Amino acid sequence: MHASKTDIRCPRLLASILPIVVAGLVATVALAEEPGAVPGWGALQILDHSVAPGSKSMFPLAEDRNFDSAFVNSSVWVVHGAQAGPSLCITAGIHGDEINSVEIARRVFSALEPEQLRGSVILLPMINLSGIRSGERYMADRRDLNRLFPGRRDGSLSSIVARGVFELVTGHCRALIDLHTGSFARTNVPQIRVTSERPGALDMARHFGSGVVVLGEGPRGSLRREASEAGVDAIIYEAAGPHRFDAEAARVGADGVRSVMAWMGMLDQRGATIPFNNIYRRTYWERVPNSGGGFFFPEVEIGSRVKPGERLGTIYAPGYDTETPVLARRSGTVIGMAVPQIVLTGYALFNIGIEGSDLFPGLMLEPGPEPGAPEVDG
Ligand SMILES: [Zn+2]
Repeated sequence: MHASKTDIRCPRLLASILPIVVAGLVATVALAEEPGAVPGWGALQILDHSVAPGSKSMFPLAEDRNFDSAFVNSSVWVVHGAQAGPSLCITAGIHGDEINSVEIARRVFSALEPEQLRGSVILLPMINLSGIRSGERYMADRRDLNRLFPGRRDGSLSSIVARGVFELVTGHCRALIDLHTGSFARTNVPQIRVTSERPGALDMARHFGSGVVVLGEGPRGSLRREASEAGVDAIIYEAAGPHRFDAEAARVGADGVRSVMAWMGMLDQRGATIPFNNIYRRTYWERVPNSGGGFFFPEVEIGSRVKPGERLGTIYAPGYDTETPVLARRSGTVIGMAVPQIVLTGYALFNIGIEGSDLFPGLMLEPGPEPGAPEVDG
């Protein structure tokens, strides 16, 4: 049956996804022995596909063919290892302007050799299909997908996509790496964001091996927070900015994913760890002072360590010949910042990881951003 012509939410898209996911869950434990397979490690049943051990597969999230499905049927890429091991999901392109995430997922998939892999990697490499093609952060129905998880089968088109992604991740994976970049003309030092409530997730974050770790639960409705609360060890990677490819951020991201996989026992290679003094449990924003809007020019580099009173940048008010300095209130490290642009009062310019919060005695510190700070997941 087709949905009525007026039903633009088109819930049958998800209806076609969900039963297959559930069937896949059941079938995953029903081991189908393949020739040459490791005993006890069979084909991976996912959606309506069967992926043999030691192979790669690519197929759409849903098989529907209708007007709405062009915004829904993003790719699923699977690398099913020849040997038994854990399952890792990797998501990218939830925000369509964050194209470095898509490139990282592509590099990871391309480089993985299933014969050398223990366990399974399931990638959703370009979730916001229309946004990636048009350079838009939001979905085709103008919603922010990363505030809609776990999604609804009878919701908006974006909510249906969220539900399909969420079921796939929580149904198949014990761990998740969600790939992003900075947003809205800002750029980030490579950073992992993770809750301190899940030791396994914090270990994943540390074994990403480069950049910094920022502790916090993440916004309600974000994939990493909702998946985490559903029992998945979930981290988010953020590096560089939107709209532009950054080769270094892509390299760091792809290397970091492989480092996490090595720590999980999925790859035979040396992993790296992020030192404890690169873990920040508090961050704050320096913003445009009241009535200080104008042309913004930063005067520090991303990743700089700054001291109280240090000038971070200057805002020139065209037409008034006045300038407003932007000063650091506390010492810390610039882990995110706005690029040169026109800014208005209150715009968040510099995200500072606070000095002193990086003395991290295991899991004993209280997590969370400074009160009043904006949600940071881009
Ligand atoms: Zn994002």
